[in-house]
Amino acid sequence: MSVTFPVVGMVGGGQLARMTHEAGIPLGIRFKLLSDTPQDSAAQVVSDVVVGDHRDLDTLRRFARGCDVITFDHEHVPTGHLRALEADGIPVRPGPDALEHAQDKGVMRARLDGMGVPCPRHRLVRDPADVAAFAAEGTGGTGSAGGTAGSGGADSAPGGAFPFPVVLKTVRGGYDGKGVWIVRSVEEAALPFRAGVPVLAEEKVDFTRELAANVVRSPHGQAVAYPVVESVQVDGVCDTVIAPAPGLAPARSAEAQQLALRIAEELGVIGHLAVELFETADGRVLVNELAMRPHNSGHWTQDGAVTSQFANHVRAVLDLPLGDPRPRARWTVMANVLGGDYPDMYTAYLHCMARDPQLKIHMYGKDVKPGRKVGHVNTYGDDLADVRERAAHAAGYLRGTIQE
Ligand code: ADP
Repeated sequence: MSVTFPVVGMVGGGQLARMTHEAGIPLGIRFKLLSDTPQDSAAQVVSDVVVGDHRDLDTLRRFARGCDVITFDHEHVPTGHLRALEADGIPVRPGPDALEHAQDKGVMRARLDGMGVPCPRHRLVRDPADVAAFAAEGTGGTGSAGGTAGSGGADSAPGGAFPFPVVLKTVRGGYDGKGVWIVRSVEEAALPFRAGVPVLAEEKVDFTRELAANVVRSPHGQAVAYPVVESVQVDGVCDTVIAPAPGLAPARSAEAQQLALRIAEELGVIGHLAVELFETADGRVLVNELAMRPHNSGHWTQDGAVTSQFANHVRAVLDLPLGDPRPRARWTVMANVLGGDYPDMYTAYLHCMARDPQLKIHMYGKDVKPGRKVGHVNTYGDDLADVRERAAHAAGYLRGTIQE
């Protein structure tokens, strides 16, 4: 009797797809990939690749043939196409109803407001004049709610107006801070509107640090929560992740985990959900953003948790029992490796591996370009300062900014 294993259809050929595929290998799970080019990170390692455009329904349908389930490396497949695939009888996980909240920041904010989840004050805006009007209101300190701003019926502004500086975000298509502007005047507010897509205005939160609460949920409704982590951003891009978040009170951590579990359940998320959070000086935790796929803030789990985010994502989309999310070490630190001036990172392995035998290097097969995320490192241990230093050293050495 021949044994068959399911085929997971992964839309998107980036590093998240590459590492999810890697996690499926020990389970014998087969992967089929829809990739923009044959050179994409995951296309280099998956044997069954369809090269095509994820925005084209016919391409998606052709790709989906022979897949037992479809999942994603990014959030950019049009929601209507996902509904069409579901209507064709193909399980899409996470499904379009859930995924829309990660695709559209306006939809996400409206839904979280409805759930009573604490978020930065916000409202959808039509044009720079709209922004100027409520920012002026905010300066006046009236704090009145409502207003006529907004499109799509989601013009909620819990807490009312707020003054410049204001954070403007295109509601769809942003990543790694692209699509996010901090504006201080009506003149500066013009830029985001040039793309012609709706724009969400948010108060600029004076946060003390950024946290992420990562959970995984299966169709059975089983869910696991990873320790809450601190995510250190540099120039809008994640630089370092520390697991668990240092100094986070156990009660606060449990609260953030419960919040993420509640969001996953109420939105019907299947797979990995990252809830990006702002921690404020007055002790509040606000939700910044949702991502429904493996996430940069969860890369530490590859080497620092009993079951990685990638392995649990694979299990979840196949409705298998989820694995233990607990940490293996007291501290695990992930540092992203960005491209620098030296295209040859391999030569740096010798030094990095000799210096830190606990170091784990994960490269994505991408050409090195200055500032581009091309890999990450994980390391772990009992002394946080030492673990941070080792991770930062390795990432800097690989990039070429540290020479000794
Ligand atoms: P992206 O979808 O590109 O990841 P995010 O909404 O996560 O965009 O924003 C990127 C970064 O911009 C955040 O990690 C944070 O550092 C900063 N940021 C976003 N929103 C706010 C806000 N309301 N107040 C202050 N900083 C913000």
